[in-house]
Amino acid sequence: MSLEQQARPLIRADNFIDGRWVAAQSGKRFVVTDPATGECIAEVADSGPQDARAATDAAARALPQWRARLPTERAAVLHRWHALILANQDALAALISLEQGKPLAEGRGEVAYGASYVAWFADEATRIYGDLIPQRQRGKKMSAVKEPIGIVAAITPWNFPLAMIARKIAPALAAGCTVVGKPAEDTPLTALALVQLAHEAGVPAGVLNLIASSRESAVEAVADWLGDSRVRKITFTGSTPVGKYLARESAGTLKKLSLELGGNAPFIVFDDADLDAAVEGLLAAKLRNGGQTCVCPNRVYVQDRIYDRFAARLRDRVAALRVGPATDDASQIGPMINLRAVDKIARHVEDALANGATLLTGGRRLTELGPNYYAPTVLGDASSKMALCGEETFGPVVPLFRFDTEQQAVDAANDTPFGLAAYFYSENPRRIERVSRALEAGIVGINEGALSSEAAPFGGVKESGYGREGSKYGLDDYLSIKYLCQGGLE
Ligand code: ADP
Repeated sequence: MSLEQQARPLIRADNFIDGRWVAAQSGKRFVVTDPATGECIAEVADSGPQDARAATDAAARALPQWRARLPTERAAVLHRWHALILANQDALAALISLEQGKPLAEGRGEVAYGASYVAWFADEATRIYGDLIPQRQRGKKMSAVKEPIGIVAAITPWNFPLAMIARKIAPALAAGCTVVGKPAEDTPLTALALVQLAHEAGVPAGVLNLIASSRESAVEAVADWLGDSRVRKITFTGSTPVGKYLARESAGTLKKLSLELGGNAPFIVFDDADLDAAVEGLLAAKLRNGGQTCVCPNRVYVQDRIYDRFAARLRDRVAALRVGPATDDASQIGPMINLRAVDKIARHVEDALANGATLLTGGRRLTELGPNYYAPTVLGDASSKMALCGEETFGPVVPLFRFDTEQQAVDAANDTPFGLAAYFYSENPRRIERVSRALEAGIVGINEGALSSEAAPFGGVKESGYGREGSKYGLDDYLSIKYLCQGGLE
């Protein structure tokens, strides 16, 4: 069966507002394509501000009843949604791979990963504690209770079409908030399928509303949420410039923001590292989704004494990777999301080579497979003057930088406005302690390349944003604290 046949029962092409599938009010549609072939998958509702407003109206109507439900009742709905996501794992994985391009095994992994946030926050919904504050004055009782913040607007990128939106919707619903959302224009279908399953799981009409739009229409549609004082929070994963824009434009109504923005992750290999483990960890971290994740190592620093050995092992492993469409079970790396992404990768590689990098493997477009494919690439002798050092490449390119001392590596790693993930490999416990503390990042991998977990706080520092997703901290972003002071008790 083709990916499309597997995914077909879950494909929805309209907006989901107030518990119903509706076309965009303008009647406009935009085309969603398969990045492996360029073929049209579906023509999806192209929403504007009227659709955004209708979604907010529905979310506002649904809020009083949803927030009044017992946490155990909200948890039960989320658990049913979790079960339905897993029951549809194959079809959802096919849909993810179809619209995003990742290998099918990764698509299945994403379904399980995204679902794990739903189960996690279902449980967390029942553990939203407050505080009884120790008494300071006779006759007065002081307490702090947590309340849902209100309507949440969720805006997500294309690289994890299911997980990124699941880990925003789940904590919002767990907290008692209602949601309006807009998935990325490249990959709206998985998110739309997910809300259909939420509906089947018993999420009441108006509690979860999703609109799709092309990139052009998205600006005006989202602007309606930014200016609407009923929307109390924006949760966004995407690029730093768009995150800053959302922060600026929502300042008029002082919304709370969670921003999970771009990274420029360093990966340091010290000369006391287990080299085989470091190579494997780097491949796991770098090649997930073909290098298109915001925690992918973007700069790999290797200490002088082991540089040549490490580079040779890495080159051999990368040169052996299989590139191809998700329909081929042997594929380890799929197409990039679109031609714009491939052009950026090619620009970074050309710029690096023009500035003194050496090509160890790859370094070309794989046009024989299709326009969106790029060969997994290793570049030696990278330096800070290259574009790939300052910007996220977001593709299967590994640049190796040589360093001498620990301090040089840490300084170079921190020499970026970003601070999402950082990784290092060392077998020295004192160095592990020093470097873990010195790295300016929200997430640090120590002798480990796979860091994501629903139980861990995911988020950045510096211009990688603020707020945390997952973990016991993940609900705080969707709650506000109310202080209650009761007098006259004596
Ligand atoms: P990427 O580079 O990964 O596409 P973006 O930050 O451009 O990241 O996009 C992430 C999400 O933000 C997408 O859903 C996109 O449609 C949305 N988006 C991009 N620009 C704007 C904007 N000006 N206003 C509202 N949403 C936007």
